[in-house]
Amino acid sequence: MSNCIFCKIANHEIPGKILYEDNDCIAFLDLSQTTKGHTLVIPKAHAKSVLEIDQDNLAKSFKVAQNMANMLKTKLNANGVNIITNSGIIAGQTIEHFHLHVIPRFDENDTFEINFTDNSQICNLDEVFKIIKE
Ligand code: 5GP
Ligand code: ZN
Repeated sequence: MSNCIFCKIANHEIPGKILYEDNDCIAFLDLSQTTKGHTLVIPKAHAKSVLEIDQDNLAKSFKVAQNMANMLKTKLNANGVNIITNSGIIAGQTIEHFHLHVIPRFDENDTFEINFTDNSQICNLDEVFKIIKE
């Protein structure tokens, strides 16, 4: 897509700190460096989000993300890694070209946090299951 910033990075039209590239995917450092080594993996073919991307390119992107995660963990001496993708504004997506965030994790004060809070008092498990299965 001509006005997509990630397509432009994939096409080398604008610079990026590229860590890996093959025929289908590219991995580069995220500008924000949420944690040290925060990396984005994208397919070269434009797709809006995880909901639209074809599953072949999705699989290829995840394979690269796994390799990047292991490489970053080793090189930066990280203790863990989060791999996440946002789809839609409400989910935090700001760039509409599918990307996987590979976020090395170091310790509890490493400036990135995901909270899976227990909301089962509000969202009744049986009711939710019934709605989805209907
Ligand atoms: P999202 O919020 O869509 O899940 O993630 C978009 C990410 O892209 C953000 O973490 C942001 O820092 C990163 N980003 C936005 N523009 C650029 C850019 O031009 N170059 C790089 N390397 N990262 C970018
Ligand atoms: Zn694009």
